[in-house]
Amino acid sequence: MALLFRSTNEQSPAVNLREAFLAGLAPDRGLYFPEKFPQLAPEEIAAFAQLPYHEIACRVLSRYTDGIISAEALAAMCRDAYTFDVPLEKVYDRVHVMRLDQGPTASFKDFAAQMMARLMGRFLKEDGKQLTILTATSGDTGSAVAHAFHKIPGVRVIVLFPFDEVSVSQRKLMTVLKDNIRTVAIDGKFDDCQAMVKQAFADPALKHIPLSSANSINIGRLLPQSVYYFYAASRLAKPGEPIVFSIPSGNFGDMMGSVVARAMGLPVRKIVAPVNDNDAFPRFLSTGVYEKISPSRNSLSNAMNVGHPSNLARLVAFYGGQMDETGRIHRQPDLDAMRRDIFSSSVSDARTRETICEVWAKYELLLEPHGAVAWRGFLDWQAREPLNGLPAAILETANPAKFPEEIEKNMGWSPDVPAAMTAAIQQPEDFDRMSADYGKFRDYLVAKHR
Ligand SMILES: *Cc1c(COP(=O)(O)O)cnc(C)c1O
Repeated sequence: MALLFRSTNEQSPAVNLREAFLAGLAPDRGLYFPEKFPQLAPEEIAAFAQLPYHEIACRVLSRYTDGIISAEALAAMCRDAYTFDVPLEKVYDRVHVMRLDQGPTASFKDFAAQMMARLMGRFLKEDGKQLTILTATSGDTGSAVAHAFHKIPGVRVIVLFPFDEVSVSQRKLMTVLKDNIRTVAIDGKFDDCQAMVKQAFADPALKHIPLSSANSINIGRLLPQSVYYFYAASRLAKPGEPIVFSIPSGNFGDMMGSVVARAMGLPVRKIVAPVNDNDAFPRFLSTGVYEKISPSRNSLSNAMNVGHPSNLARLVAFYGGQMDETGRIHRQPDLDAMRRDIFSSSVSDARTRETICEVWAKYELLLEPHGAVAWRGFLDWQAREPLNGLPAAILETANPAKFPEEIEKNMGWSPDVPAAMTAAIQQPEDFDRMSADYGKFRDYLVAKHR
């Protein structure tokens, strides 16, 4: 019997992974979350120490795909998806930085996108169906999704991005792809792109086009993000020894991956989940009152400019509460348990810049703004609770070369560009351009699907 997934709004029937994955959002507008968590025995987790990343991924994910995808097929997908390095760099004592920036688009979003594309390709093939993925991006998600779905049969991807708001390297990582990928530069803001995508999903005139989004609410994005926590512990902790993670958070999808890993049996001492100026979560954790931030605040760590983190509904559900999609709490979670497990602080742009400089001066370690938030949040936690010699992994979620302006401003030199990025950036670009006018976008979609 396959594992079931329930909606956080508690008004839709439970479904299996395949159904949850293809639906994205539950019919009651809640998010899917496992009904219960498969358990890994301590010996099984201990054995991860000898395994490469893709095999750990296979052993963790098979607990969710059993009965839906054969073991051999899953193993092949994991081998195929995870061909890049996951460096764990020692900084001092047992404190490490885990770099999740070695994938094809140099951000941690590659870990989920790569797996999601393979799952989607497989399900569509089984059903003999075709699908158009429509996504709006402020930078990292669009390129990760476009690269992952490039040349996957049955899938067409259309990415909308605000022309003036993404960096040149972020743009090129999307626009050099061709084949089944189309990028559309919008003369507007990210909010305009997102609004156009939302309108398309609700438009009866587009009913004949099967559309899907690849956004962070999909359970298929969350589960692969639990794997690198097992991986880090397998390299840094002794069998059974708890570890500390610090995870720079925006929509809290990355952080929920660590909650899933712990729920499956991984010993975790503390989950540190710092945010930028968008501090709705740390306020909620300390006061029990949730107030989303609208509009969201612009910070240096721009991938975390989220005023109402969508995954909080899952976190609240995990601790026995209920929060709806608007952020209203219908049942309080166990806040004491949450505070025991999780720490969060808000890191301002000034503290982010200071951290980039200090960490470089002290350790010759280069962090970009998101990783700097993780580092500072870890120090904030350290000021309250001792580490007592335990291992820690601080997550660097993007490559510094994606933010050359900020590094140059603070350090006076530019970071090296990884080989995968250099190769992409040298190819010719090809993208469409349009004003932020929904009517035009609808005509464009209809013409593409004739
Ligand atoms: C998306 C992103 C984050 C935030 O991850 P969430 O899962 O939204 O909390 C952090 N850093 C980078 C570089 C990102 O692209």
